[in-house]
Amino acid sequence: MEDDEFNRLFNDGAMKSVSKRQLTFVEREWKNIIATKEMSTVGFCFTGEGDTVVCFACKGVLSSWKAGSVPLAKHLKAFPDCQFARDLANKCKRGSNLQFDNATAATANTAYDDSDFEDIIRLVEKSFYRSECNRLLSFAKSSTYFPEKPQEIARAGFYCKEDSLDTVKCFACLVEVKTWNRSDNSRLSTRKYHQIVLSKDESRAETKTPIKAKRDDPMHATAKHKEYVRENQRMESFSTWPECHFIKPIALAKAGFFKSGEKDEVTCFYCGVGLGYWEPGDDPLEEHGKGNSSCKWLKLLKSKNKVKEAKRKSDITKSSFEQKGGDTVKDPGQQK
Ligand SMILES: [Zn+2]
Ligand SMILES: [Zn+2]
Ligand SMILES: [Zn+2]
Repeated sequence: MEDDEFNRLFNDGAMKSVSKRQLTFVEREWKNIIATKEMSTVGFCFTGEGDTVVCFACKGVLSSWKAGSVPLAKHLKAFPDCQFARDLANKCKRGSNLQFDNATAATANTAYDDSDFEDIIRLVEKSFYRSECNRLLSFAKSSTYFPEKPQEIARAGFYCKEDSLDTVKCFACLVEVKTWNRSDNSRLSTRKYHQIVLSKDESRAETKTPIKAKRDDPMHATAKHKEYVRENQRMESFSTWPECHFIKPIALAKAGFFKSGEKDEVTCFYCGVGLGYWEPGDDPLEEHGKGNSSCKWLKLLKSKNKVKEAKRKSDITKSSFEQKGGDTVKDPGQQK
């Protein structure tokens, strides 16, 4: 693409098209670590000079992209009035996937409140780092000692922070870990470390620190869909579930599912198994087992339920003993 043609297309508004924007990166040989797909999705065209890009909507110019830069966050911080960037940020707020949901971005009319700016930036970052690939790329410039390959660390949910390359942060629970101690933790896997950090967070949360703790998710680090680890997160996904449906959202959420598609498709947050076409009388827990009998989270839940059930039964037995004075000898024939 010649410069004249670029200027013509740019001024014509042709750069409204994400594929045209992406083409500017491909044709002008963008060499930066940030993926061209990410850059073009959030409105940028590549000028061909250094790493200077320009937004098709606000015409804002930005450069100095580093490993760990979050394109949309940087766009918003520099040009907070860009309507295109704001609309995209709102999509993050609603949990949409920007890359598959970009077509209508420019026409969305919801505006966010400026007082939420910090929150918006956090959501934008979270949405960006939901991608394991983006997490992995954030390690490109870090020379810090890590006990494991970046691949493993990224897979466990961590990315390397742009402004402090020796700190990694989990995109889902936002916990941060600053440099592993070479002597102490070199044999700990990141997953294990994540779990230790999370359990420490739990006790810290009791004293009301701002770090979000995970109480109900011992398997958080290995879950496929970390953003649905909590039951209430899964419940939120059912906001468009038909009210008259014979399977209730609470039963699905309790069985590990979140709504993952049109109609009645759901997915297990842990093992990722997808189910749909529910029939009256289906038991979500049972169907989960049929879909993937080796789901570890499901196994854990079932064994917990068994313990609860056994405890409930023994409580009933105990209280019936107590009512009778506690010294009644039960006929062994009545016991199962
Ligand atoms: Zn812009
Ligand atoms: Zn986490
Ligand atoms: Zn599962």
